Amino acid sequence: MYKDLNEKDACGVGFIANRFGNRSHEIIKMATQAVTNLTHRGAVAADAKTGDGAGILTQIPEKLFQKELEKLGVHLASINDMGVGMIFLPRHDRSAQAQGRALVEKTLQQYGVPLLGWRSVPLDLSALGTKALETMPEIQQVLVGRPEQLADDAFERRLYLICKELEHRITAAGLDEFHIASFSHRTIVYKGLLVAPQLTQFYPDLENPDFEAALAVFHQRYSTNTSSTWMLAQPFHTLAHNGEINTLMGNRNWMRAREADLQSPLWNEHIQKLVPIINQHGSDSMSLDNVLELLTHSDRGILHAMMCLIPEAYEQIPDMPDVLKACYEYLSCVSEPWDGPSAVAFTDGVVVGASLDRNGLRPARYKVTEDGTVVMGSEVGIIELDDSCVVEKGRLGPGQMIAVDTTQGKLLKNSEIKHSIAEQKPYAEWVQKGIVTLPTEKDDASATTETVPEQLPMYQKAFGYMTEDVERFIKPMVTEAKEAIGSMGDDTPPAVISRHPRLLYSYFKQRFAQVTNPPIDSIRERLVMSLTTYLGRRHNLLTETEAHARLIRLPSPILTNSDLQALQELNIPDFQITTLSVCFPVSSGKRGLETALEALCECASEAVDAGITLLVLSDKDVNPDSAPIPMALAVGAVHHHLIREGKRMRVSLIAETGDAREEHHFAVLIGYGAAAVNPYLAFSTIVQLAEDDELAGLTATKAVETYKATVEKGILKIMAKMGISTVSSYRGAQIFEALGVNATVIDKCFTGTTSRLSGIGFAEIAAETLHFHTKAFSGSENDASLEEAGYFRFRRNGEFHAYNPTVFKSLHQFVKAGKSEDYEKYVDAVETGEPSSLRDLLAFKPSTPISIEEVEPAEDVVRRFTTGSMSFGALSRETHETLAIAMNRLGAKSGSGEGGESATRFKPQPNGDLASSAIKQVASGRFGVTPTYLISAKELEIKMAQGSKPGEGGQIPGHKVTAEIASIRHSVPGVPLISPPPHHDIYSIEDLAQLIYDLKQANPQAKVAVKLVSEFLVGTIASGVAKGYADVIQVSGHEGGTGASPLSSIKNAGTPWELGLAETQRALVTNELRDRVVLRADGGMRSGRDIVIAAMLGAEEYGFGTIAMVATGCIMARQCHLNTCPVGVATQDPALRAKYPGTPEMVVNFMLGVANEVRSILANLGHRCLNDIIGRPELLQPIDLADYPKAGMLDLSEILTPADPTGTQPRYHLQERNNREDIPLDDQILEDAAEAIAQKTSVQLSYSIRNIHRTVGAKLSGEIARHYGDAGLPDRTIQCSFEGSAGQSFGAFCISGVQLVLTGEANDYVGKGMAGGELIIKACTNSVVPNF
Ligand code: SF4
Repeated sequence: MYKDLNEKDACGVGFIANRFGNRSHEIIKMATQAVTNLTHRGAVAADAKTGDGAGILTQIPEKLFQKELEKLGVHLASINDMGVGMIFLPRHDRSAQAQGRALVEKTLQQYGVPLLGWRSVPLDLSALGTKALETMPEIQQVLVGRPEQLADDAFERRLYLICKELEHRITAAGLDEFHIASFSHRTIVYKGLLVAPQLTQFYPDLENPDFEAALAVFHQRYSTNTSSTWMLAQPFHTLAHNGEINTLMGNRNWMRAREADLQSPLWNEHIQKLVPIINQHGSDSMSLDNVLELLTHSDRGILHAMMCLIPEAYEQIPDMPDVLKACYEYLSCVSEPWDGPSAVAFTDGVVVGASLDRNGLRPARYKVTEDGTVVMGSEVGIIELDDSCVVEKGRLGPGQMIAVDTTQGKLLKNSEIKHSIAEQKPYAEWVQKGIVTLPTEKDDASATTETVPEQLPMYQKAFGYMTEDVERFIKPMVTEAKEAIGSMGDDTPPAVISRHPRLLYSYFKQRFAQVTNPPIDSIRERLVMSLTTYLGRRHNLLTETEAHARLIRLPSPILTNSDLQALQELNIPDFQITTLSVCFPVSSGKRGLETALEALCECASEAVDAGITLLVLSDKDVNPDSAPIPMALAVGAVHHHLIREGKRMRVSLIAETGDAREEHHFAVLIGYGAAAVNPYLAFSTIVQLAEDDELAGLTATKAVETYKATVEKGILKIMAKMGISTVSSYRGAQIFEALGVNATVIDKCFTGTTSRLSGIGFAEIAAETLHFHTKAFSGSENDASLEEAGYFRFRRNGEFHAYNPTVFKSLHQFVKAGKSEDYEKYVDAVETGEPSSLRDLLAFKPSTPISIEEVEPAEDVVRRFTTGSMSFGALSRETHETLAIAMNRLGAKSGSGEGGESATRFKPQPNGDLASSAIKQVASGRFGVTPTYLISAKELEIKMAQGSKPGEGGQIPGHKVTAEIASIRHSVPGVPLISPPPHHDIYSIEDLAQLIYDLKQANPQAKVAVKLVSEFLVGTIASGVAKGYADVIQVSGHEGGTGASPLSSIKNAGTPWELGLAETQRALVTNELRDRVVLRADGGMRSGRDIVIAAMLGAEEYGFGTIAMVATGCIMARQCHLNTCPVGVATQDPALRAKYPGTPEMVVNFMLGVANEVRSILANLGHRCLNDIIGRPELLQPIDLADYPKAGMLDLSEILTPADPTGTQPRYHLQERNNREDIPLDDQILEDAAEAIAQKTSVQLSYSIRNIHRTVGAKLSGEIARHYGDAGLPDRTIQCSFEGSAGQSFGAFCISGVQLVLTGEANDYVGKGMAGGELIIKACTNSVVPNF
């Protein structure tokens, strides 16, 4: 479940160079100083000393090695004839170490490279933390000579070849601890499992004055995974990376697919020794390095290679010169972008540079001094430079690059670099001549109607259409031109638990970005997003020819019928097209599907051999004897089969399918390799609806056009959720987790996709397909009615809903009087239904009971309860205050949601009740976030994602933003508000760590929680969050979520909390971080049984969302987003609010009912308190699922295996707080201003400031708010002046009465959450260039 291969990085990165190529030890000193000043962007492990990794990549220090050669008695004509391999060998296993050295020597000999000697690298082990020391490799340098007559580049290539050959041999020999940190005659890497300040102590070489270089790339790593290794510390051979490659799986797969076609006269027959190009055990950054290194050594030029791998958003930039646009278009014919937030510093030993991804979501700032020193880094102020010597300052914008060419002595700017590359080849001519576009669309209506109308219902049934598909999806997509919306989460069983057959698409859950990278706003950032699709054969990555641009360009991957027809009629020799039927004979039964799939793969392979470049996979042949193979299965199988056969780059796959109709379906098809999709049956359905006048008067043509546009918007949104900007990168990126699909299917069709619970196989998929087929062809031909599935709304005989009328009616009955017999009826209603979640498949292992009197009291249990963070605005004031009062009465915690609270609620009411939510939420909308709001909280919760709509934020529609709501949120009435906005200001784990730090400064008494949504790798993310000093981590499941959300998100994004919680518990325990944080779970919790299971899986606090609303009177009408809630729970309409039936007593009754049920279960199991069972999944067992055949195929062992079988690690939090040790500058300021604050007298203070001084002013503002509320102090009561480079969040939450004047410069987040204070930033008086 928790895999340490899925490393996620964030960090500080940069380079220092002397542009004239003058080598000096000063460059090394500056580089190590710079990376030390970025230490706060890294993280340390549980031992408080082991870092996640730090290092530098620099030129080989010739003076130093000259002396080493002398010691070895070696004399070279030139030190430039020497290469150095920085090798990590097994340390404790002496025989493996000897084997590793022997392999190196043998490989050198084989390639004619003379061995000059080995050098034990001087090390100071006292610098290391315990974990780093335990895992430290033997670090050796192998010194080699230049084979005669090899020129510089050829020497580099030879060493690269040896390096690749060694990697393969090491893998074959099973020498896991062997790693080549660098092997070059130009560059060398010193890195380790360190924090930056340890770097020079650990490697004394770096302090040796003989260590001279003209350039150095540096990196401080913040991995979200503390099982980080020495190998994954950065820089790698050519680069250091701050960011995350979201499309990694696709990039790796496409690279593997390209390997069969790689050719270069530089490599000749050796080319196959280089593959696999990508180390499958590496991180995303290492994978990018692998490809950059290949391209660089294949004569591409490192700047050119970077431009190809991480291109600018050229598609829609109006003022980009045509020659550059053409170059980028050409490069997109060669390779898909490596997409995701990235700041990359890179070097080949001669040129050093940095570039940003197309969104520019990582900081990269530089300065140039008059003596030719160039400093580039994640922050300014990492090197203290005399401003009078700085001749230039700047920052990289989205997609931009900067470089220093040390041989030419030039600083190269973005435009100069790009234009020079764009003019290297006749790209514009090649693109103009090569790229083909389709004729403009014809009338789709006529094309579509040709297909099926008379048999339409039969086709629809064969492809599993239900009434809801038409009514709740297709119609709104056409008539409203937007995705269908629903509310109140998903209370139906996941497809694999359902007794009903489901389309294969519903077994795949969309993944989404949280914490380690940001989602994108696909509407407001449309400029950087692209659906442009190219079809046709791709060519050798290592060359650039006219043939590479011989492709068809489509504006979108969605093909209308006429588009497909146009493709088929192209009649151009380079674009040979054929269609393969994607059906299987009904007579072959369940086994027939797999056989047909194998035959399909064979046919596809033969078609490619025959020169086909466009392969249409079509399920149109469905008839009474022939059933459709689910198109996702067909596309995935052919895609992976062709990759395995080395033929994938020769053909594009086009899906002509009846089963795709929702945005999610198209995303799955493209995500598993389809270049384009023609949803002919959805079009037919729309045409029929238009003819029946059911589409608000739209013509068939207009309706088809609108549907296509809506699908395209939906695809963009799904891509954006994961932070992916281009469909060419999304294609094949497999951004899904399978829920309930077995390994046989995954390995064959969806290779590499995570599927943690196993599940259905080919036979079950065939059975579900045949079920739909039987419905279509066994009934009366005249029966045009589609089934009512009850998939989105409760229907008798339809899909099961956990919140069915029996459940909420019995709960309403109970909360009125709180009678225990009524609670039993409620529990009975909950438990007698069908299983609807993973926890419903589990039972408690029987044990010896104890008396309930021996169990901790309900008052203690209930303190662990919270209500979900539902904002004032989404809820009515009555509901919001009822929940807060009830939870405060219980000593439990209500969540404010992000919407602010009136300050009048922060004081107790006359009867002693308090309506202030204990948990105040802060998302990046900062709605209602003021210093007083912050200091009124017991806990501050950072919302990274929302359970029912991860990656896109919760939306309060404009009609619910009344004057009162707007005033509390400091917004404008009638304006819709999203929280968190998809494109927020937390771009990375270090940004989140910064916000945690900010909040702890503003309110040092409050704990800080981070709310995550369950998905694969949430445990990895949680480890990073714990290392970012959060006190509480909340894992939300996909089921929960109140309020409005796209149906596609409700059903298809996020995973059950059981999975996320078990993974998080395992990750935190494994990384020895569990005792530092409280772990909370929420999402569809309904009963004491749910709580006890959550506890056994690792949770120590428990959130109630939907059920808390039901307890106050919600009747699940599911119209919260419409402002028409009939019971006043989720509306701002005064007339409806008047009908609100809820009271705090009802909520108190519910919470105590659940707490007492928890006690009763604990007593039955023989445990005295919740702590006894937290993190003990071994107390659970799977139930017998004979009546639920699909669910019975799940393997729950990963959930049920204890995180620590030895039982010695902490299973719950032991530390009261998880705080970073530091003394903020604000402590000094507060001391200096104490009297002024108390007496309201003015004071002038001054300080020098550096980038390590972060969040200056926040603690001061929080303290003032504690005394005087948001009114603060009279203007400029506290005047502080600073000189230098301020760290991040300068002036955060700055309150009235505070004036901060900075002479110098500041980093990101200046004035975050400002609240009436004054900030002035001005350039240094001796500065000769303006600030930026
Ligand atoms: S009753 Fe009100 S709160 Fe409950 S689902 Fe319906 S609209 Fe939403």
